[in-house]
Amino acid sequence: MKREEFKEVLCKECLKQNIKISDKQVQNLEKYKNLLLEWNEKINLTAITDEYEIIVKHFVDCLMCTKVIKDEKRIIDVGTGAGFPGMVLAIYYEDKQFTLLDALNKRLIFLQDVVDKLNLNNVHILHGRAEEVARKEEYREKYDATVSRAVAQLPVLLEYVSPFVKVNGQCIIMKGDSVQEEISISSNALNVLKLSLNNCFEYVYTINNEEYHRNILTIQKNMCTPTKYPRNYGQIKKRTL
Ligand code: SAM
Repeated sequence: MKREEFKEVLCKECLKQNIKISDKQVQNLEKYKNLLLEWNEKINLTAITDEYEIIVKHFVDCLMCTKVIKDEKRIIDVGTGAGFPGMVLAIYYEDKQFTLLDALNKRLIFLQDVVDKLNLNNVHILHGRAEEVARKEEYREKYDATVSRAVAQLPVLLEYVSPFVKVNGQCIIMKGDSVQEEISISSNALNVLKLSLNNCFEYVYTINNEEYHRNILTIQKNMCTPTKYPRNYGQIKKRTL
């Protein structure tokens, strides 16, 4: 896809969702897309390789988080993979600081290349497992918000992400259309982790007449996370909250 076409398609898809986007943001997303496709030849970053689908299913989808992000300054993406949604949001919000965390180092090497080539100075790349990193003083309760997409089922994910957030901060969680089922099995996790469900923002995008229904949950942290959480991976899996 040529540069002009990329710009036209991205702007059109953003307009459909009422997202404002500047020339600089478009240029940086195009560079990111080119690096994603180049690196995807060598390492597994994304199953989506059609450029139109990258624009809609990755870029515009992640930009939907702008509907729920307000004045949060420090945000961590837990399980960022190839940078979704954290890298897209870091490109969008130059005035916010992003930590992109993943357990898989090879994807982080790709993300560091994106940071270097785009000269981003608001991104910190972090290698580790969420449940281990969240026990460290320097990361625990240090963020205004977390974001995450396609990492784990809601009760498990809440244990991973909520310890990173300051009291009164929010966990922003992107989910597919089975969100109500996930909410229905999460009341114990919400209770134990001192969280409450604020809102569920629903949206739809269409590709080739097929509708994709998506949701963004915003979950508020009301009190400090009990020191017992997050537990280690074995316990989280064996006795999910
Ligand atoms: N968020 C990206 C997206 O939407 O394309 C990646 C989704 S991918 C299915 C899940 C990612 O979460 C993987 O990169 C995996 O390494 C990471 N992950 C899963 N559990 C994790 C944990 N406990 N700590 C850190 N990263 C984790």
